[in-house]
Amino acid sequence: MSMDFKRRLPNPIEIKAQMPLSEDLVARKTRFDAEIAQIISGEDPKKRKLMVIGPCSADREDAVVDYCTRLAGLQEQVAERLLLIPRLYTNKPRTLGIGYMGMMHQPNPNAEPNLLAGVRAIRHMDLRVAYETGLFGADEMLYPSYNRFLSDILSYVAVGARSVENQEHRLLASGLDVPVGMKNPTSGDIEVMLDAIVSARAPHDFIYRNWDVSSTGNPSVHAVLRGATSLGGRIRPNYSYDDLHHLVDRCQERGLGRVAIVVDCNHANSGRRPFEQPRIAKDVLGSCAINNDIADCVVGFMVESYLNDGSQKVGGDIYGTSITDPCLGWEKTERMVLELAELV
Ligand code: PEP
Ligand code: MN
Repeated sequence: MSMDFKRRLPNPIEIKAQMPLSEDLVARKTRFDAEIAQIISGEDPKKRKLMVIGPCSADREDAVVDYCTRLAGLQEQVAERLLLIPRLYTNKPRTLGIGYMGMMHQPNPNAEPNLLAGVRAIRHMDLRVAYETGLFGADEMLYPSYNRFLSDILSYVAVGARSVENQEHRLLASGLDVPVGMKNPTSGDIEVMLDAIVSARAPHDFIYRNWDVSSTGNPSVHAVLRGATSLGGRIRPNYSYDDLHHLVDRCQERGLGRVAIVVDCNHANSGRRPFEQPRIAKDVLGSCAINNDIADCVVGFMVESYLNDGSQKVGGDIYGTSITDPCLGWEKTERMVLELAELV
């Protein structure tokens, strides 16, 4: 056989029962989620912006909890202007399909994959972050069937650039109770991203984890601009005034009404130069300042940030340094968040 069915895993209901949220935590999450939903719908009385911020990959629990504890301190300082959602990314898309796959597959990045240990490790980390910091995290939905292991603890889900054209991702997004950010594909074609938004806003019937399910449609699904790699391999950012203006226009032309926009300041927008992220976010706020429609649609930013600047190779064991995309270190992150809070 080409595929070895090694062992049956506990299903998400069993895992959730073994590692549950307290009643108090559920209540806190309900309040946190309501605030995010208000910001995305443009109805936040304080007109705050979101920041989905944290390491490219959550590679180890100790450093991630340390990072989120610092983020919680920063959140208190900027509470009137920004809502911080930590990136707790446990599944990594790989351009070549090989290499480090994230904590779900490899709870120890330097050891062989172990999916059972991985399921427990990601849930343990997300629960610790919530209990110890009061913040609820964001993750990428790389594999739709994995979502249920964390569906009660995540407050934000992104569909990545390599998945956004996939029907199964769109169908599941239509049935999630939290905002889903649809990224533009790596080609930069914003129509694909808008198609995904149309699809996930609508109700659907489909098979999910061997269940016949129906979804209601997700009103909080929105656009995430992450820049593009055009033919010939050139990196092309898409956060400029013209790009934002064009996206708002296309939403009107397609009859989509208001579509909320998050700008991913790293990836192809920074050309993987993480220190450009503060400048990019400020540039976007400049566009908001001169155009009310853009200001109304741009609800926040995605930022890749960790304890230390830059990145290291998988196998490097420097605590708090990214083993995937290069990140902004803590000092620069703190400065960026405080500066943005002044400008929002
Ligand atoms: C990421 O957020 O780390 C990521 C892989 O994003 P994208 O799908 O935009 O490449
Ligand atoms: Mn990344």
